[in-house]
Amino acid sequence: MIACDLAPAHIRAIAPYQPGKPIDELARELGLDPSGIVKLASNENPLGVSPKAQFAMEEALGSLALYPDGNGHVLKSALMKHWQVDITRIVLGNGSNDVLEMVARAFLQPGCSAVYSQYAFAVYPLAIQATGAQGICVPAIEYGHDLPAMLAAIQTDTRMVFIANPNNPTGTLLSNAELETFLQQVPEQVIVVLDEAYCEYLPENLQPDTLHWLARFPNLVVTRTFSKAFGLAGLRVGYALAQAAVADMMNRVRQPFNVNSLALVAAAAALEDDDFIARSYAANRLGMQQITQGLQLLGLSFIPSYGNFVTFRIGNATAMYRRLLEKGVIVRPIGAYGLPEHLRVSIGLASENHQFLQALESVMEEVK
Ligand SMILES: *Cc1c(COP(=O)(O)O)cnc(C)c1O
Repeated sequence: MIACDLAPAHIRAIAPYQPGKPIDELARELGLDPSGIVKLASNENPLGVSPKAQFAMEEALGSLALYPDGNGHVLKSALMKHWQVDITRIVLGNGSNDVLEMVARAFLQPGCSAVYSQYAFAVYPLAIQATGAQGICVPAIEYGHDLPAMLAAIQTDTRMVFIANPNNPTGTLLSNAELETFLQQVPEQVIVVLDEAYCEYLPENLQPDTLHWLARFPNLVVTRTFSKAFGLAGLRVGYALAQAAVADMMNRVRQPFNVNSLALVAAAAALEDDDFIARSYAANRLGMQQITQGLQLLGLSFIPSYGNFVTFRIGNATAMYRRLLEKGVIVRPIGAYGLPEHLRVSIGLASENHQFLQALESVMEEVK
């Protein structure tokens, strides 16, 4: 007790991240057959793992007695070739969550502040708070980032701004032009972390320009993940691209072997699996149509989304979430994001989307 009381106040004040409910947990709790449960709660790829990544992991299984390459050379070279960026600009993470924490730990401390948006990804306030820095939450505009307001919120002690684009859980998107204008105006000493976890789900004409901006904006940190479109959420691998000096600072707080051996080879292979990415993109477009049309037919409004999920408005969201669980459908309540009247559903396979819509229709009938 005494030891816990002495933990720093900013640590004691942290409200832990609430992940989506795992299938096995729901099966245990309600005595359901796990094979009948659909999980559309964590924006995972319904197509599974990239086959190229799967093959690479099978090849690497024999070497698990050895430590991974602490420099992650295989993956960094693949990223260097793929994005035409210098290797010194790359920071690898145990998921992009890890690089988000590294950037916070490397640059924030008590007495300084960091800006993020209302309804933005919950990891930002957590990463800020763990350093003892002050979080500044800027009210959203139409569920998305209000960049002019975020710019105006920057104080003399502000060292960082977090932006998710597209944003989770609202699915909103900022244009390249808006972001470029913002970057031009942010003071140099403020690091701008641009989290592009869902960029592979954007159509060609909306793909980010951000990697071209790295040379122009030395305070820019772009983060990407293999958890979403690449189908490797369980493996935990992501990365950041930044100016070499910034990447160097981040690497100083990185655990020596933060990315495991399987993740290194799988991510390198997945990066070149164009066919898998194209299939994931196409399936998501179709599934998004299926779900949004289904929501419309049920008379429910939703926030138009650029990700692989959609957030819809429903009265009694907590009760509806529980009733959906009883029907074997796991979605994500987002009351912790300040959206107690919304639920977020990830885009699944056509059959999973159908099961979700059917379950939703029947629970809506029940409460009528
Ligand atoms: C899912 C997600 C991530 C990725 O997390 P990983 O740690 O890479 O699995 C990062 N940012 C946002 C906004 C996300 O939704």
